[in-house]
Order: sequence, then C-alpha cells, then structure tokens
Amino acid sequence: MAIKSIADLDLFNKRVFCRFDFNVPLDGNGAIKDDTRIVRALPTIRYAIEKGARLILCSHLGRPKGTVKPELSLKPVAARLSQLLGQNVSFVSDCVGPEVLLVVNNLHSGEMVLLENVRFHSEETKNDPNFSAQLAELADVYINDAFGTAHRAHCSTVGIAELLKEKGAGLLMKEELENLEKAFANPRKPVVGIIGGAKVSDKISVLKNILTKMDMVLIGGGMANTFLKAEGLEVGISLVENDMIAIAKEIMEIASARKCDFCLPKDVIVALGMDNGVESKVTSVDKIGLKEMALDIGPVTTREFSGRIQKAGTIIWNGPMGVFEQAAFKKGTMEIAKAVAASKAFSVVGGGDSVRAVIQAGVSEKISYISTGGGAFMEFLEGKALPGVVALES
Ligand code: AMP
Repeated sequence: MAIKSIADLDLFNKRVFCRFDFNVPLDGNGAIKDDTRIVRALPTIRYAIEKGARLILCSHLGRPKGTVKPELSLKPVAARLSQLLGQNVSFVSDCVGPEVLLVVNNLHSGEMVLLENVRFHSEETKNDPNFSAQLAELADVYINDAFGTAHRAHCSTVGIAELLKEKGAGLLMKEELENLEKAFANPRKPVVGIIGGAKVSDKISVLKNILTKMDMVLIGGGMANTFLKAEGLEVGISLVENDMIAIAKEIMEIASARKCDFCLPKDVIVALGMDNGVESKVTSVDKIGLKEMALDIGPVTTREFSGRIQKAGTIIWNGPMGVFEQAAFKKGTMEIAKAVAASKAFSVVGGGDSVRAVIQAGVSEKISYISTGGGAFMEFLEGKALPGVVALES
C-alpha cells in the first residue's frame, strides 16, 4: 500500500508530531559524542518548519526501561538542534500530560519543541493503547523519520500512527525505503551480497532470505569458519559454531538449488591469538593449523571477491570480513570497502560495523547509500515487514 511522504501533507499551522531517532552516544557528562543521527534529521525538520508546521519532536535515547534516568535525557539534543538549526528548539521535561499539551498548543507556526525521552514511560515499548492515545492527543499529523526504530512496534512508531489519519514518512525514512527498494525490488543484475561478521547464528534468516534474491553471496568474517567446517575443513581454534554446521550445510544446499553462487574464502590470515601485535600469516583454508585462528580473509580471496564486486550491478553489504578493529586483521575489510566504492554498482551498506568500516576506509562518500538502520536494516534483509513502515500505510 502507498505511503505518503511529508511532502504530500498539508503542514501549515498543524501540530506535526515527528518521530526521530536521536539515540546518540553521550559521554558521562551529557555531551554528544557523535551527532550523525541529529544531522540526518535536519532536512525533515527544516522542511516542516519552512511549511509552517507547529513541530513536536519525539525520540527515545538508550534503554531507560520505563524509568526516568537523567543521564538519558534528550535535553542535550535540544541544545545541539538549536545550534545546528540556528533557531530555538525548546524542551519539555515529559512527553505526555496536561503540561506538555499546553506547551504544544501554544506553539506558533514555524516553532518547535523537543519532548523528553519517550522511553521514560514503560508503556512506550509495550505499544500501550492509552499511552498511544495520549501521544496522539498532541498532534494533527504524524510523521515517522526514524528508520532505525521501524522494526519496533512501539507507541511512538506504531500506536500513534494508527490513531492519526494524516500521516507519512519523513525525508530520511523515504530515502531509506526508496534505496532499499531499488536494491531489492527491481535491482540491476547481477546482485551481489557481501555478508560477514561474527556468527552464522545471528544471520541465518538474513542468509536464507537473500539467497532467494541474489545471484552471488560472498562470505567473510568469523561466520565463514562455520561454513568451511561444514565443507569438511579443519579451522583450528577459529571462532566456529558447531551447532550451526547443519544449518550452514542447509544454507549452501539452498544456494546451490537456487543457482546462487555462494563464495567462501580460499585463503585467510591466521594467528595464534587475537591480541594486538600477535604474529600473523596468510594460509590456504585447507592448511589452517590446529592452534591457529582465522581472523581475516587472505589476499587471494580479497582479489577474487573484488573481481566479483567489480562486475556487480547491485551490492548489499553487511558485516566485516575480519576482526577489522585490529590493525593486523583489517586489510580484508578495508580492501572490500574500497572495491565496493570503486564499483559502478548501486551499493547499499548497513549495520554498525560495516558502516564504521567504510568510514575507516575513507570511502563512505562513494557508497551509493549507507543505511541508518542497524536492527531495522537487518530485519529488512530478513524479508520481514517493518511495523513502523506498515503503520504509515494509508
Ligand atoms: P556482526 O555484529 O555479526 O556483524 O559481527 C561483527 C564482529 O565480528 C566484529 O566485531 C568483528 O571483530 C567480528 N569478526 C569478524 N571476523 C571475525 C573472525 N574471523 N573471528 C572472530 N570475530 C570476527
């Protein structure tokens, strides 16, 4: 069903409730360590203000679990927003109730207020109908711009949306949905999935779903070890999930039946441990020693994967190729990031570590789209409908 965009709605003089993802990292003293999420909300805020909305900004921060935790107050976000917008963003110390309603009703066209952390109320994460009704009472129009929380059926992402007729996606949400659709609904072929990270168990549903949509899947990271073991290879003391070997075999059988080219590393970087400064070497995957750990993809694999990436029409990447946090084991991930950036394919990268990796490799500008959704991006890759998106359908 169709989802309206904020640009399709009349905002003038309306009380517009906008759900954002201002879940930013703070240091112990309330200073914002990384304001990327705030910056990415600015286009929607500016647009709504320009159109004369009376804007109500709502978000969660951290996991206060239904109690008021001053260290998780959104107050510092109001200050940063005021700085970035060059306009006063007032702050109210709750998100529902008569005082909040009064502040909201007194807003003039083009003014805005940030509500306190919506998760200070335990009802929020339970999608409690009464709490949703209290939030809905504040507004005439509902906008969701928080793709990062779209996989959660909470009051501020689902309950309120079901109560307000005038609703739509913010500019960032719209951008996320359009880019994911471009990569999944009608992608340029061949479609190459790059899946890495620690464990198969975390990504079984992702792997099973993408095999049905992709022409090729390149596997790296710790999870490759479980697949290698499922192929009968010895992987020493590498991170391996013995209880996932049957699933790994099943995934490879599905890939083969679907004619999806499922590529495992041919060589790896091994070491006797993971500590910084430990001696490492390149080895073929059939020669991993009993006391060795595979901690990155090797140069032959990197070359082979890069060649395939170069020929891709569409690329979807989640999960690093190795323990990229350590200098000795980051090369594979960095080289793959550069290969994705150099490719002419439409490329989408999502998930915290993969996004960090492309930034670390200095190539984030050359990726077609970097998703802002961690959990939501993963659930999208699993093929699940996102409740926060479904609730916007009119
Ligand atoms: P994930 O959150 O599942 O994407 O996993 C990311 C983590 O996987 C990172 O912290 C990496 O250090 C880790 N990782 C990647 N490759 C390996 C490996 N070969 N052995 C152990 N951990 C790995």
